[in-house]
Amino acid sequence: MSHPEVLDSLLHEERVFRPLPQMIIEAGINPQDLRAARDRADSDLCAYWEEAAEELDWFTKWDQVLDDSKAPDYKWFTGARCNIVYNALDRHIETVNKNRLALIWEGEPGDSRQFTYYELYRAVNRFANGLRALGVTKGDRVVLYMPQLPETVISMLACARIGAVHSLVFSGFSAKHLRERIREIQPRVVVTVDGFYRNGQVIRLKEAVDHALLDSPAEKLESVVVVHRANVEVEMDSARDYWYEDIVRHERAHASSEIMDSNDPLFILHTSGTAGKPKGIIHSHGGYMVGVHRTFKWVFDLKPTDIFWCSADPGWITGHSYLVYGPLLAGTTTVMYEGHALYPQADRLWNIISKYGVSIFYTSPTQIRTLMRFGHRYPDQHDLSTLRILGAVGEPFNPEAWIWFYENIGKSQCPVLDTWWQTETGMIMISPMPVSVLKPGSVTRALPGIDADVVDLEGNSVPAGKGGFLVIKKPWPAMFSAVLNDDRALVDHYWGIIPGMFYAGDVARKDEDGYFWIQGRADDVLNISGHRVGSAEVESALTSHPDVAEAVVIGVPDKIKGEVAKAFVTLIYDAMESDELHKELVDHIHRELGPIVVIKSIEFCDELPKTSSGKIKRLTLKEREDS
Ligand code: ATP
Ligand code: MG
Repeated sequence: MSHPEVLDSLLHEERVFRPLPQMIIEAGINPQDLRAARDRADSDLCAYWEEAAEELDWFTKWDQVLDDSKAPDYKWFTGARCNIVYNALDRHIETVNKNRLALIWEGEPGDSRQFTYYELYRAVNRFANGLRALGVTKGDRVVLYMPQLPETVISMLACARIGAVHSLVFSGFSAKHLRERIREIQPRVVVTVDGFYRNGQVIRLKEAVDHALLDSPAEKLESVVVVHRANVEVEMDSARDYWYEDIVRHERAHASSEIMDSNDPLFILHTSGTAGKPKGIIHSHGGYMVGVHRTFKWVFDLKPTDIFWCSADPGWITGHSYLVYGPLLAGTTTVMYEGHALYPQADRLWNIISKYGVSIFYTSPTQIRTLMRFGHRYPDQHDLSTLRILGAVGEPFNPEAWIWFYENIGKSQCPVLDTWWQTETGMIMISPMPVSVLKPGSVTRALPGIDADVVDLEGNSVPAGKGGFLVIKKPWPAMFSAVLNDDRALVDHYWGIIPGMFYAGDVARKDEDGYFWIQGRADDVLNISGHRVGSAEVESALTSHPDVAEAVVIGVPDKIKGEVAKAFVTLIYDAMESDELHKELVDHIHRELGPIVVIKSIEFCDELPKTSSGKIKRLTLKEREDS
């Protein structure tokens, strides 16, 4: 069998971490359950997901679990009627969860607000009624240009309650960016705030909305709703702008749930734009809620006493699925923090964990690498003993940062779950569970019900140890339904590249145990003297040097070798840049990866360019090199 486009795999990580016996005893899903679930899903995929769907409330059950007659336009739970908010709020207020904390919010200046499920339910209903009074109806779109505030959660749920499609635009984006999104999405209402706190500054969002809306790029836009947060002065257009307080003040705290078809859109959310122009991904009520609910409860092995904190911004998919919808569907307490991780100093996250007794902390490798630069003195100042599970998503988690997280934050007691998934997948796809045997740097195995593989361009599985393209071979419930304003995307970008399989755009390898190792993005594969190497492997090798905090490697043309690697690195706080260190790093790469990876040069940087969701923007560095 030929294997076009197979990658070399140079990095070998031998460390293995077995689950603590207590974790296995206490786990809701132990290793036998996990094996049984995999077997069930392998023998009957639809029965497996139907069982997951039965755990939620539906107004009308489905005719069919999966309609694949128009593949790749897959439809889940066809004929079913539901509303995700009914499952996230209403069904909890009938139970003891009614008085449980749903949301703990901390503002950057140190203020805090908390909502029980009942309080959140009432707040959502008030705003749902307020939006209805503004004329918003099922199918209308609402842009939320909002930071991490309780009203952001409330607005998302209020929209979903009435069948409006929410689209969060990250609060770090400029007016120009917002304008583009508004033009693309054509909302009826925009919800924003006067201002909010970020790294000690007040960021004025309403002002940005005013700029974005100059010369009316949005024909359908009727109203702008403004939440008070920073009490900065804003201009209010009396024909268009309303204060949130005025909208909700006289509204009833009960609102009916719109009866949605399982495949009606729930939200539009753009990808991070790491590889170019962000894509507007559309998710629907039914399948999304089933996939997110199941993965949230299983991956994090949820217990009734958990306090869950996902530090991602709701402006990207992790915030949607595992800050807002997942925790609320499961009836747990979710924590949200408004501000910057380094404000007022680099222990803020550890302070929040100890203050609220966070038991599950889900973050990103970027965040960990940033905090690692300050060493262990900050985590050592806080009581992190409530933590039982750690998780990460967003970028390859280099083993050194993984180990730092495991030892310094989890005190070698908490499993670190490296979860692989995307805006498009909606839910975690490849990930360990707390009872899994862990290998730092590996996302381990696909979850039950997910058929993932590593293949060549012709769709053949590549042998263990070789790299290839990461694909998903069967549909899954939380899969996106479409890409905004791009009817051909489903085939052109996802299901038609390797026919019949979902092409994730990442390269990976599987080891002898069937564990997946993400090697980077398919677009970022380096081609050095005929060897194809994933950028993540070279970056991982660099960050395994004790002085390096973060690293990016890009390919630059070379007359002799075709392509050589150029690296950009940031150093940990007490390391100094020098010619000796440069040489040492080049030698280190050779020791770690062998002689074929030729590093042309290493540039020391104070900071690396990142996307809004904190991912390193290789593209920006490449463009800089090319110009
Ligand atoms: P765009 O699609 O616009 O280029 P993006 O792919 O970064 O942006 P997201 O959907 O937010 O947008 O991110 C998904 C991607 O993040 C994955 O395809 C993968 O490259 C990376 N990723 C996510 N989780 C992991 C992980 N655990 N390990 C390695 N990479 C990961
Ligand atoms: Mg992507």
